[in-house]
Amino acid sequence: MTATLLDGRATAQQIQEEIKVKVAAFTDATGNQPVLAAVLVGEDPASAVYVRNKERACKKVGIESQLHRLSADISTEKLIDLVTSLNNDPRVSGILVQLPLPKQIDSQKVLDLIDPAKDVDAFHPTNVGLLSQGRPRFLPCTPHGVLQVLHRYEISISGKLTAIIGRSDIVGKPLAMLMGAKSSHLGADSCNSTVTLCHSRTPNLAEITRQADIVVAAIGVPKFVTAEMVKEGAVVVDVGINRTEDGLCGDVDFEPLRHVASHITPVPGGVGPLTVTMLLENTLMAARLQAETKVATG
Ligand code: NAP
Repeated sequence: MTATLLDGRATAQQIQEEIKVKVAAFTDATGNQPVLAAVLVGEDPASAVYVRNKERACKKVGIESQLHRLSADISTEKLIDLVTSLNNDPRVSGILVQLPLPKQIDSQKVLDLIDPAKDVDAFHPTNVGLLSQGRPRFLPCTPHGVLQVLHRYEISISGKLTAIIGRSDIVGKPLAMLMGAKSSHLGADSCNSTVTLCHSRTPNLAEITRQADIVVAAIGVPKFVTAEMVKEGAVVVDVGINRTEDGLCGDVDFEPLRHVASHITPVPGGVGPLTVTMLLENTLMAARLQAETKVATG
C-alpha cells in the first residue's frame, strides 16, 4: 500500500481562494479591510519566519497586516501597553502575539489581556471556554487546520477511533475537543470521533495507537511515530515541525509509514500551511464581529 498524500499546500491554497472572495465582499460592503496586527518580540529566527509567512498570506487574501517589532529586553508592562493600544484601536481586527516570548515576560498575563473578540489565535480563556462548551467563536488554528485537511479529502472521523499524541493547550487538547465534539461547522463527518489523548505518561502507547483509525502526532520529537505503532490503512496526521541537521521533519517516520497508512500528511507542506490559513479565516471573522457590534451599538 502507498498512502495518499494529504497535500496541505494545495488545500491551503484552495481555502485561501475562498477567503479572498469573502474578504473582498466584506471590504466592499463595509469600506474597511480586515487588519491583522502581529507582535514580534526579540530576534528568534523561527518566530521571524512564522510572522513573515503570516504577513505574506494576509497579503494574498487582501487582509492588511501590521507588524509591531519589540526588542528582546522589553518589560511585560511595555508589552501590555502595546496590546492595550491594539485592543482599543478600532482599525485592528485581530491581534497575534508570536510565541515564545522572552523569559522575563509573563506570557500568560499578556495573552489573557488580548480582547477575546480580537483573539485570532483562540488562546484567551473565554475562547477556550466557549470551545469546551461546544459553541466556539474562533477555532484554534492548528486543530482547525487538521479538521479542514481531513474534511477536504473527504475522510470521515465520525465513529472512528482517534489517538492524539500530545496534550498541549495549542494543539492536542483543543484538537481532542473538536474531534470528539457532537457537532462541527464542517458537518457530521467532522466530529463524533472517539478520542484518546496520549502524553508522556501514557503507558503502552503503541498498543493504543495501533488500535486507532486516525493517529495525530503533536509531540515535538522527530520521527517519534514509527510504522510499528500504526495499523495498516490508518490515517496519519503529522503536526510536528522539528529542525534537524537534515532539515525540517515531522514527528512521524514518514517513509516507512507511507507503506502502512492509507493517508498521510507530509512535513513540510502538511498541517503548517493550514495553520496560517485558519488564522486568516479567524481575522476575517473578527472583522465581521466588530462590524456587527458597531452596527448593533450604533
Ligand atoms: P508541546 O507543548 O511541547 O507538547 C508536546 C506534547 O507531547 C506534550 O503533551 C508531551 O507530553 C507529549 N510528549 C512528549 N514526549 C512524549 C513521549 N515520549 N511520549 C508521548 N508523548 C510525549 O508541543 P506543541 O506546542 O503541541 O507542539 C508539538 C509539535 O507540533 C512541535 O513539533 C511543534 O513545533 C509543532 N507545531 C506545529 C504547528 C503547525 O502549524 N504545524 C503548530 C503548533 C505546533 P506531556 O504533556 O506529558 O509533557
